[in-house]
Amino acid sequence: MKPNDVAMNTQETKEIEIQTDEPESKPVEYDEQKLADFLSKMYPKMQEALDDSVTMMDVKRRAFAEDKTDIKVKLLQEIRISNENLQICAMCWNSTGNSIAISSTYEHQSWCHHKGTVNVYTLNREDLLPDAPQKILHASACVTTLRFHPTITALLAGGSRSGEILLWNIQLEESVVLKVNAHEEIVTQISWVNDIDLTSNPLLATSSLDGFLNLWRFNSTTNSLDIKDKYKIKSPLFGRLQRKSELPLDIARKVDRGVIGFDFSKFEPHMFVVAAEGGLVARCSMLGTKTIKGSAGDCPISDPVYKYYTAHEGEITTILFSPNRREMFMTNGSDGEIRIYVLNQEEAAQVIFIESPIKNVAWIPHEEKLLAACGVAGFIEIFDVLKGKSVDYSIDEKYEKSVMNLMEINSRRINTVIVGSAEGILQLWTIPWHLYSRKP
Ligand SMILES: [Zn+2]
Repeated sequence: MKPNDVAMNTQETKEIEIQTDEPESKPVEYDEQKLADFLSKMYPKMQEALDDSVTMMDVKRRAFAEDKTDIKVKLLQEIRISNENLQICAMCWNSTGNSIAISSTYEHQSWCHHKGTVNVYTLNREDLLPDAPQKILHASACVTTLRFHPTITALLAGGSRSGEILLWNIQLEESVVLKVNAHEEIVTQISWVNDIDLTSNPLLATSSLDGFLNLWRFNSTTNSLDIKDKYKIKSPLFGRLQRKSELPLDIARKVDRGVIGFDFSKFEPHMFVVAAEGGLVARCSMLGTKTIKGSAGDCPISDPVYKYYTAHEGEITTILFSPNRREMFMTNGSDGEIRIYVLNQEEAAQVIFIESPIKNVAWIPHEEKLLAACGVAGFIEIFDVLKGKSVDYSIDEKYEKSVMNLMEINSRRINTVIVGSAEGILQLWTIPWHLYSRKP
């Protein structure tokens, strides 16, 4: 199906009251001396690293900016996709930037007894979302993570609370392509990643609270998934990288920490960074891994860790390599810190102190000095990586703020952003990022 042929439903445009609404900014308490030391040490290094690519970035940025006459931050649309008791917990755009898949889930106190649903929406000719989804996909438990295949545009991968991995083809009547009981616990992240041999098909990477990060080969002819590598992230040796606060006992006792998230380098496909329970941050490699004693079978388990970084005091929600700088990656923790790390240095090169808990952070494509984040405050925050603080901007519309769980930038139209709320509402925003990287 051609995306734009499907979505011809009449749109109900919502009336939005016009009013200027400035995000508030309050001072935060933190150790100023420690921050000053950090910055005086790291600022020149980061400035240098970022300046190298400024000219190139400016050229790209202008190309994006010139065809944009409308330059305001705007909330284009709000759609209620589920009832108020359901949170949006996973979202992704497909590779053409025309369709999105969205999963919602209940608050879980214990084991998940729900049936999972994933709604698929396709932008219409006005670049808006239809009120009703084009497709509803089903799973045997709540779906926690979603990613479309980078080149097979209709192929969607998801992981569930019960440890299942699912592949769907959203163009088929019978959408489920395969289901695999892959993990013992909740699947925390699913991603398509490059193989070391770039001529091979992308691999599927999955992580779970069961402590495994697995790599799978997907065969699109036979629709089968075969395990390629199984990794476990070991806790650092006792006494190393102590945190200021005590680790919760249930995590401290674990030899293998649950894996919260990961990201593979676009520059060096063997390299990846991992966030594990207890705020653990590690750099890993697919090359030269150590096989873990006692693991046998067709796919032995290996330890891929090369280096540990200073741990977060809270749990990590996001870990992402910079799309532009090979040596830089970012983490966000529930301890109120967004940290920028450079690969060869254990301590963070920059720390952004957050006043209101952030749920999700993203790099802005082509704007390497900017990060965007969303969370409890209920608006999209923009941060300057070098200055380590938020950028002020105004939003033209007044809207009812609710906790923003997730945010996904459209990779084809980077000013288009979808946000998923904790109350089952989907928002479509347009944000002219280039304006904010030029602010003095
Ligand atoms: Zn559930």
